[in-house]
Amino acid sequence: MKIGITGPMWSGKTFQLIKTVNILEKKGEKVLCVIPQKSKRENGRGLEEIVINTPVVFLKQVRDLKNFFDLVVFDEIHLYEVFGELEKFLDCFGMFKNCIVSGLWNDSYDAYKVFKVWQEIVPFLDGFTCLKSRKPCVKCGGTAYFSKHTSIKKVCVGDHYVNVCRKHR
Ligand SMILES: [Zn+2]
Repeated sequence: MKIGITGPMWSGKTFQLIKTVNILEKKGEKVLCVIPQKSKRENGRGLEEIVINTPVVFLKQVRDLKNFFDLVVFDEIHLYEVFGELEKFLDCFGMFKNCIVSGLWNDSYDAYKVFKVWQEIVPFLDGFTCLKSRKPCVKCGGTAYFSKHTSIKKVCVGDHYVNVCRKHR
């Protein structure tokens, strides 16, 4: 079974992953978490700091470990595209029957530009969850479906984001 989770910043994607990992581990499943090498969160803690019983590794370590785990969780998959590792990610994604992937839906500089990684993997998913931001749109206070960068500098991590509605994206 392959499951996708998307949503803007502060929509609880990582929280959802952790919740799922905990449930599966209680059932005795062996879970492996994979994070992008350059992933660094602006605020809050990342997957690597929260999961306790689950090994957290980088993409390059996945091939050696694939036979030892029942399920693999990939967090922040949009970053593989940003850092030019999309093909490597797709290889790893294809190695597993059971995985959960999570990441941003759109480029934070352009709410209309959907990350290519989703186009590649959505056909293979058995389930797909789209979360909304817990923070309202900064312009109108409405439900925020998208995240946007506040700076024009092309820095993809550790930078500042705001959440916006469909009208203000
Ligand atoms: Zn708005």
